[in-house]
Amino acid sequence: MEDPRRNVPRTDDVLADPRLVQAAARIGTGLVKRSVVATLALCREGLVAPSEVANHAVANLPSTATSLRPVINATGVVVHTNLGRAPLSSAAVEALVVAAGATDVELSLQTGRRERRGRDTLAALAAAVPAAGGVHVVNNGAAALGLVTLALAAGREVVVPRGEMVEIGDGFRIPELLESVGARLVEVGTTNRVRLADYAAAITERTAFVLKVHPSNFVVAGFTSSVAVRDLAGLPVPVVVDIGSGLLRAHPRLPHEPDATTALRDGATLVTASGDKLLGGPQAGLLLGDEALVDRLRRHPFARAVRVDKLTLAALEATLTGPPSPVAVSLAATQPELMVRAEKIAASLAEVTDAHAIPSAGAVGGGGAPGVELPSAAVSLPAELAEPLRLGAPPVVGHVKDGRLRLDLLAVFPDDDEAMTAAVRRVLESPCT
Ligand SMILES: *Cc1c(COP(=O)(O)O)cnc(C)c1O
Repeated sequence: MEDPRRNVPRTDDVLADPRLVQAAARIGTGLVKRSVVATLALCREGLVAPSEVANHAVANLPSTATSLRPVINATGVVVHTNLGRAPLSSAAVEALVVAAGATDVELSLQTGRRERRGRDTLAALAAAVPAAGGVHVVNNGAAALGLVTLALAAGREVVVPRGEMVEIGDGFRIPELLESVGARLVEVGTTNRVRLADYAAAITERTAFVLKVHPSNFVVAGFTSSVAVRDLAGLPVPVVVDIGSGLLRAHPRLPHEPDATTALRDGATLVTASGDKLLGGPQAGLLLGDEALVDRLRRHPFARAVRVDKLTLAALEATLTGPPSPVAVSLAATQPELMVRAEKIAASLAEVTDAHAIPSAGAVGGGGAPGVELPSAAVSLPAELAEPLRLGAPPVVGHVKDGRLRLDLLAVFPDDDEAMTAAVRRVLESPCT
């Protein structure tokens, strides 16, 4: 019998398949070629028939030119850093698409002249935080704090409590960030306690500002004290408050999470925050507060190095003016309504696996409200499903607790319930499980 491997087609002949030609125009020749080369290797091993090479290569093409894949976040963590923090609202996604081409980001179409970059985004932010005299947007929260420190405290001192020396993640630390732009830190208080008198005693003519950092990813409980913004505002130096989470106003479900409006009303000179945590928008850093100071930061030479692009401006504006963001929707979800969804999914899976709905506790995530449990509901499944679900299409990421896989619904878009259920079914039907 003839060895089928001798009929392995030539790469160019496969690439000439009209479906692959079309795909190359859409996602690029490199990715299409990669799929063809991988398929031909399987063909040489006798795992794909020569007549099936083109079909197999087409079936294994990536759907877009990004290798990032959409994931269903069933972890119960609303702002999950490893899953890209805040998912954008559909209004923000549409805004991204519009802004992707040539757009009037710095041009007045009325006059034909140059316009202030991102004017409408800044206006939307100012409208959302009336307590801020000035507003500016940079690349992320760390850039906002870095710019403030560089502009106000290079070669000078920043007073910061020991209990607020936060490591934000991936090995990056706020105190090192401040020092990296030339500020000298003056640490006050102890790990668990600091008093107004500690700050007052540390202030000299070299002090640029006192910094209050929200411990957004840990809790110190017990014999603790910190000084409220209201009290710091009486000190004879500016007060910069890094709230981190980006809550613009107090949120009823997160009573201990600092927000920009309250900090400014209480006398903060400047507030810095992230755009992609509780605000629910794109990665961005917000600078809010004293108008003259914000203007100075905006005009600082380094401001150019942390400038946001048109995509960020578009998505941020849509987040501020559009319908509630997915993060806001998750925060508003009640346990009974999540339980109804969990029961529906569990009932539809019960015939194929051991599935049931259970109450669970979600969390905001590294982006804020440490220690706060958000009452939620989950579908409890056999733990062995965790890996195949993570490797499935779409990938579903849950978490294993007490020997069971939990698919928590707090951060799952209601529109994704069906896709998630179908993903579980597919895993159960696949011969490998
Ligand atoms: C998250 C966070 C930051 C860093 O913000 P990025 O947007 O990640 O750069 C800084 N400070 C606090 C308190 C934070 O929670």
